[in-house]
Amino acid sequence: EVVTRFAPSPTGFLHIGGARTALFNWLYARRHNGRFLVRVEDTDRERSTDEAVKAIFDGLSWLGLFADEEPVFQFSRADRHREVANILLESGHAYRDFLSAEETGALRDAAKAEGRTFESPWRDRTPTVDDLSKPHTVRFRRPADAPVVVEDAVQGTVRWESSSLDDLVILRSDGAPTYNLAVVVDDHDMGVTHVIRGDDHLNNAARQSLIYDALGWTRPTFAHIPLIHGPDGAKLSKRHGAQAVHEYAEMGYLPEAMRNYLARLGWAHGDDELFSDAQAVEWFDLTGVGRAPARLDFDKLAHVNAHWIRMADDDRLAKLTLDVHLAREHALGPDDEARLLRAMPFVKDRAKTTLELADQTAFVLKPRPLAMEGKGRELLAGESGERIGRLRDRLSLFESWDVFALEAELKIFAEEEAVGFGKIGPAARTALTGGSASPDIAKTLAALGREESLGRLNDALQ
Ligand code: GLU
Repeated sequence: EVVTRFAPSPTGFLHIGGARTALFNWLYARRHNGRFLVRVEDTDRERSTDEAVKAIFDGLSWLGLFADEEPVFQFSRADRHREVANILLESGHAYRDFLSAEETGALRDAAKAEGRTFESPWRDRTPTVDDLSKPHTVRFRRPADAPVVVEDAVQGTVRWESSSLDDLVILRSDGAPTYNLAVVVDDHDMGVTHVIRGDDHLNNAARQSLIYDALGWTRPTFAHIPLIHGPDGAKLSKRHGAQAVHEYAEMGYLPEAMRNYLARLGWAHGDDELFSDAQAVEWFDLTGVGRAPARLDFDKLAHVNAHWIRMADDDRLAKLTLDVHLAREHALGPDDEARLLRAMPFVKDRAKTTLELADQTAFVLKPRPLAMEGKGRELLAGESGERIGRLRDRLSLFESWDVFALEAELKIFAEEEAVGFGKIGPAARTALTGGSASPDIAKTLAALGREESLGRLNDALQ
């Protein structure tokens, strides 16, 4: 069975790179009918915060990436990590190091000056009973001189000379397990078969592999994926724009669009750009992951988002749009939700984000009487105003208020008036919306509803 995991350190929000890592693990697990797990790597007590844990879970659930089991909190497993450190001590794969921090620093500097890898003298020394009561770290004993080879599913075969790796501290002098030990023990105990993560962890894979080997545990398959870069090819940073997943939510992107877009960041299935979760699950494969850093491309993201907005249910879009209006501190009237819902089919084909849906539907929420923008008053004076009066009279006798019937009715009206629609549209739009952006007049009328439309027309003719 395939078991993957996402193992964030809760030191900040869910980053777009983290989200992509989580997505790849989730896709891989789904693809193989396996399990996707989440482990919170909270061993760094100073930098880990509850707010960050919450932000990460909020980000994951917004993205729809739910773990198949309760999350594991790494810090709570420290006793188990110490137990495994003891197993390594007993088998001789680890040793106790009684050097102080200063002594270690001095010896490390000396080794560096001579171009050697640092080694503690305690590597080959047997501590006395007396020694054992003194503070000490526990170090992993790297095996002599064989190269470390990792078969990475993305990076290919990667080798390290064993002499280039020093003896890693696995327990600090206060008994706290260190990162690489904790990861190996947890991945093993959680049954993780595939470790898919950023390639900034590639060197850790060498160290972790040695610990697996020493314990006689099967190594997982490692897949180190290239990091995400900004549009200019430089490492992603603040100046490139939004980094946190919640910012994308606030910018009006849909989670399914983010999944679609993020899946394409570093992974490709031919030229397919727009695909559903089901297709991504069917297609996702580590062999499709490239080795070059992926570049964030906001135009592409907007294009993908526009597609998923077109595909989304009007109900859901209306709710999301309502949230945007509320966040913009719009006070809601009793009929506003219904009007937004009626407007959705007319605006969803043109919006790249839910913020744009809100811009394009702002006209339905305006309180009466409408404030007239720009040349509105002029458009409603004289001959053209009289024509709007006749339009109002005609529509007030008209009952079947759906967009097709309204379109036909407007056409008849234009014929009767013997003018092109260009003579009616601007004045009608001004009367109905105060001059704001809105779809064509039949759609505007349909979105507003009969009562509101006639009310606005009447107001405009006062
Ligand atoms: N906690 C690590 C990080 O946030 C991930 C470690 C791993 O995936 O093995 O970068």
